Amino acid sequence: MRLALHWQILIGLALGLCAGLVLNRYGPAVREVAGDGLGAGVIDSVVRLNWLLGELFKRSLQFIAVPIIVLALILALGSLGDPKALGRVGLRTIAIFACTAFISVGLGLTLVNLIKPGSDRFISPEAREALLRETARPDAADMSSRAGKISGWDLVRDAMPTNPVRAMAEGDMIQVVVFTLMLGIGLSLLPRERTRPLYEALDALNEGFIMIVRGIMRTAPVGVFCLLVPIAATLGFHVLKSLGAYCLTVLLGLALIQFVLYPLVVKVFSPIPLRRFFRGIAQVQMVAFSSSSSAATLPVTIQNVRDRLGVPGDITGFVCAMGAKINMDGTALMQAVATVFLAQFYGMDLPLPAQASIVFTAVLSAIGTPGIPSGGMVMLIVVLRSVGVPAEGIALILAVDRVLDMCRTVVNVTGDAAVAVAVAGRSGTEQKM
Ligand code: ASP
Repeated sequence: MRLALHWQILIGLALGLCAGLVLNRYGPAVREVAGDGLGAGVIDSVVRLNWLLGELFKRSLQFIAVPIIVLALILALGSLGDPKALGRVGLRTIAIFACTAFISVGLGLTLVNLIKPGSDRFISPEAREALLRETARPDAADMSSRAGKISGWDLVRDAMPTNPVRAMAEGDMIQVVVFTLMLGIGLSLLPRERTRPLYEALDALNEGFIMIVRGIMRTAPVGVFCLLVPIAATLGFHVLKSLGAYCLTVLLGLALIQFVLYPLVVKVFSPIPLRRFFRGIAQVQMVAFSSSSSAATLPVTIQNVRDRLGVPGDITGFVCAMGAKINMDGTALMQAVATVFLAQFYGMDLPLPAQASIVFTAVLSAIGTPGIPSGGMVMLIVVLRSVGVPAEGIALILAVDRVLDMCRTVVNVTGDAAVAVAVAGRSGTEQKM
């Protein structure tokens, strides 16, 4: 009997984590004993080979993300047909996206104010000194300077493409979504006889891409293994102690979104049993966890939500394609927690109005966050700036962000699936159940 694919992926994930942790624990000792000799060479080659195979897996999904967004949105807008149906689905989608985003940020702010992970209770003076030295790390400085160029105004301006081909070539997802929405609405307003051949051709193309996703997913057990080995092998556990309370606060918030908020959304709006929902998106969550990229996971999200949860193709395409870009509850929560944590760390007092403003800036900057690894870290600067917390603070939490990024990406993709199921509602999913 063959094991179901999600079990195979889970095993790949667990083995990858174990192998990486073994390398992390014993790699330095072997290197020390072997010097630059054979042992050290073998370890480096193993890590590199895994990194290469993992990257190939991730890239094979990434290259489909832009065509899938374009096709999914145009086909969805075409099949939703009349502007009234489109307006209804669009409003419902945006309303649920917005509600879950504000609740997530509120949750993050409540937890971080209750737990106070940046206070002296959790960070000793020595740990504080050591953390401050982290600010000098070159990758942190690079991220701060990259992030330093972004402002809230630029974010809104940059959402409008000047050249759709360039937006697609550069994978600028928000511009791709804006351009495709406009084109999709334009096409849906033309007489059906004129557009039918185009929709049929695009539909066939879309199916072709979904077939590619199915093929790639057969390699996913190996893909996630290879993605995880180098990550676990290079994790810095030393910082985990002083930043443990911060990590736990973020993880607790993510768990509440994942296991309380989303199940509520699914239960209230849809007839799908929760077991079936979580089983249906297990593969999506594992790919998100190992790739840390909701954009790369999008093809898998669309395929699973449509085929395994039975959500109609038009609603799946519309909600998931939009969601991969603008629905990032895990990221919004992290940005809220990180901002208040850093304020506590630097001994700043953030009054209530400042914290209230974080609600809006965190939701906005999560919308602007690219669905790529560490995308949320770069955009965190917008929130930090809005309340005057030093931007170098990013460097302090960078070392632990890898793991948090993996977890919040899982939440981000689960949110897209939950909202797709909710928007389909009772009528949408019943016939396929
Ligand atoms: N990696 C996250 C995602 O792709 C974005 C983030 O860094 O928060 O959803």
